[in-house]
Amino acid sequence: MQKLEQLYEGKAKKVFKTEDPDQFIIEYKDDATAGNGEKKGTIVGKGVINNKMTATIFKMLEEKGIPTHFIELLSDNEQLVKAVTIFPLEVIIRNTAAGSICKRLPFEEGQALEAPIFEFCYKNDDYGDPVINDNHATALKLATQEELDAIREMTMKINEILKAYFLEKGINLIDFKIEFGKTNDGQIVLADEISPDTCRFWDVNTGEKLDKDRFRRDLGGIEEAYEEMLKRVNG
Ligand code: UDP
Repeated sequence: MQKLEQLYEGKAKKVFKTEDPDQFIIEYKDDATAGNGEKKGTIVGKGVINNKMTATIFKMLEEKGIPTHFIELLSDNEQLVKAVTIFPLEVIIRNTAAGSICKRLPFEEGQALEAPIFEFCYKNDDYGDPVINDNHATALKLATQEELDAIREMTMKINEILKAYFLEKGINLIDFKIEFGKTNDGQIVLADEISPDTCRFWDVNTGEKLDKDRFRRDLGGIEEAYEEMLKRVNG
């Protein structure tokens, strides 16, 4: 499958058309940004790691009944996916309080949450990706209520699968962000990526952060943390 016209370039990935209107190619980059693009840098090897980790996890989720856009790996930093239109929503699940929720609300970083907290954010840089509820999303025509219900149900299932999956690998899944898309034939599928860029991973024994917080917070050992996560996932 050949890459044709570039459709989109985001902060961490490029998306290309192919000769098949139902398939896109995603190329993962080493570029990293944080704080809505205020902090910029490169994490050497990140594109390869996130491409491979996303492939393994999406395959595993498919086997457990979650539809995803993933088709196959094409190279170290490219994968073939189903063409989708992405809902402009960041879907976030928190199992332990960390990051922005500790600034917005009186939660302590590391505080376990009795039940997962589900959030929608509106993907819109001009407004700083604000947290919204179903009424905002339907009023802005980002999705229908039926689509939001389907997304919420799939996300709760994905969280249960991922929590157990990562725990087996000695990782506490603190929180994560996922995105959904709609295929040309109208199916809602999990899209985008699941990687240390989009999840918080803490080592169960040491509490060490093995994710993008090492970049966001200048903790050092960034490349090593990403490599360690790929090793835990791919063995
Ligand atoms: N996240 C993401 N992209 C974003 C914002 C957040 O992938 O644009 C992920 C982030 O890695 C974390 C979860 O979503 O796993 C919750 O992030 P939070 O709202 O705490 O924001 P942050 O602290 O990253 O600003």
